[in-house]
Amino acid sequence: MQVTLPDGKALELPDGATGLDAARAIGPKLAEQAVLVRADGRVQDLRLPLADGEPIQILTTRDKDDPDALYVLRHSSAHLLAEAVRRLYPGVKVAIGPPIENGFYYDFDFPEPITEADLEKIEAEVKREISDGREWSREEISRDDARTRFEAEQEPYKVELVDTAQGDISLYTQGDFTDLCRGPHLQNAKPIKAFKLTGLAGAYWRGDEHNKQLTRIYGTAFYTQDDLDAYLARLEEARRRDHRRLGVQLDLFHLSEHSPGSPFWHPKGMVIWNTLEELRKRENRRRGYVEVKTPLLYDEQTYETSGHLANYEDNIFWVQSHEQHDRRFALKPMNCPGHMILFGSQLRSYRELPFRFAESSTLHRDEITGALHGLLRVKHITQDDAHIFCSREQIEEEIFGCLDFAYYLYELFDLEARFELSTRPEKRVGTDEEWDFTEGALRSALERRGIEYVVNEGDGAFYGPKIDLHMTDVLGRSWQMGTIQLDAQMPQRFGLTFMGADNEEHVPYVIHRALLGSLERFIGILTEHYGGAFPFWIAPVQVRILPVGEDHREAAHDLAARLVPYRVEVDDSAETVGKRIRNSEIEKIPFTVVYGDAESDDSLAVRERGGGQSNPSLSEFRDRLATLLPWQAGAEPSLTS
Ligand SMILES: [Zn+2]
Ligand SMILES: [Zn+2]
Repeated sequence: MQVTLPDGKALELPDGATGLDAARAIGPKLAEQAVLVRADGRVQDLRLPLADGEPIQILTTRDKDDPDALYVLRHSSAHLLAEAVRRLYPGVKVAIGPPIENGFYYDFDFPEPITEADLEKIEAEVKREISDGREWSREEISRDDARTRFEAEQEPYKVELVDTAQGDISLYTQGDFTDLCRGPHLQNAKPIKAFKLTGLAGAYWRGDEHNKQLTRIYGTAFYTQDDLDAYLARLEEARRRDHRRLGVQLDLFHLSEHSPGSPFWHPKGMVIWNTLEELRKRENRRRGYVEVKTPLLYDEQTYETSGHLANYEDNIFWVQSHEQHDRRFALKPMNCPGHMILFGSQLRSYRELPFRFAESSTLHRDEITGALHGLLRVKHITQDDAHIFCSREQIEEEIFGCLDFAYYLYELFDLEARFELSTRPEKRVGTDEEWDFTEGALRSALERRGIEYVVNEGDGAFYGPKIDLHMTDVLGRSWQMGTIQLDAQMPQRFGLTFMGADNEEHVPYVIHRALLGSLERFIGILTEHYGGAFPFWIAPVQVRILPVGEDHREAAHDLAARLVPYRVEVDDSAETVGKRIRNSEIEKIPFTVVYGDAESDDSLAVRERGGGQSNPSLSEFRDRLATLLPWQAGAEPSLTS
């Protein structure tokens, strides 16, 4: 038989040859370093036979960043962990141990609970296994034999897995441990150059809270120690920037069981919130949006008309009126129904289109408790939402305007934007001609703006295609923020029309768009993106003045008054100047001004966040601050396009 190598060359092999045989045929070095074979695009164990005519690629220890190569390394590491745990804790039952993003875990049922302190001992045992050397062998057995085997070993979780497994049953053995596993696995433990256990957690068997809670041990492994070190440094940086931690440290917000998933905003967090609200209002005004306000509660019929009842009911909070028992109401999860009703409340003419209704009201979504995560996943959502009602001819120009707006915002926050176009799904409403048109309009707007985008075939909403806006933060993490959706259906469902130039009634199109996404989430992301060191224009406290002694207090307060409208604080607490400077640094305040005998309007002692020191005059200092605002009060900046 014959397979094709990545360079296009054919490789002759005896019938039934495995990936490892192919590697040996190419060279002994390659065979030694091989970890996995990609056969016809699928990941396959080296021990399994190749098929005649298929293209193959042999991955080796040099493919250290390849996700599949890392996957097989980490999966094999999970097996080593299970072997070590069984040796150290007689009577422990093993459950499952898959690789995950950035590592792996294994779930165990321990006879006695273990603690974080045990991880060191377990890790040492795994490292001993690696240095002693381990080889993996694979065998296929019948379901009955597998059941008998794991029953004899008193491994009830494995028995259950055998009973529910699909297809053939295979086992992998290394050292004195045999696991039920589909593979693939490494040939041996040599490629595991760095291994680390990273934590403990509780996890229900098969993710079901009615089942027994098991102990999950997390770990990770890499092909080089440098890669592990870099990964741990990234983790530490992410921990340092965690918005839940910084939210407390910077006194921005807190969460309480009194209202799960709904942040309580503190005065400093509110400064950030209001700054974003001002930005939203100002940019909407400049771009021809009008602010509207629609109710928070609607009756059930409204959601039936909008389609939310059929498609979104699990996320809706219902509210019972004490008077109208037969009429259910719900808190709005989205603004669209309200805006539809508003549009339909008057006769509309083509001359008035497009209508751009903007509203950032409170939305509620009944997210499951386990999914809640600080500000990033909440039940109480405030979107920078808008609905643009327009005619068919206006769509492209309006989408173009949304994209332009998005670019303006993301550049303002130094966030790198990525765009994805999602096209018609299998289940959809509307004709193919309509979809050709709406998809074409989104595509053409993206291309006219010169935007690179990827296409998610079949991932659009059931009523129309959409452009999703993703941002990459400073740690390289990607977040979905905004969305621009073109909808030909909801206006029809609400019976909306406008009078055209032809004196006929036409159904408007609507563009649903949110660019920052939810303010809660956006502030969470910004906090991590900036590590709490917010740019001057967003910082809750922009300047802090520290009077050196009692005698300088009046002058300090006087200076603060003359720095209005900037957000200035005077710290005249009894702490030493050094301690107060340190506090200012911890709170990441952009400018700290120390005011003592030597200072006057002609010469201020200014310390900048990040280390710079200077002695500007008051007017120079004010000029400097003014340069740090993305726009001047009263002045309208030009569009970025
Ligand atoms: Zn396995
Ligand atoms: Zn909407």
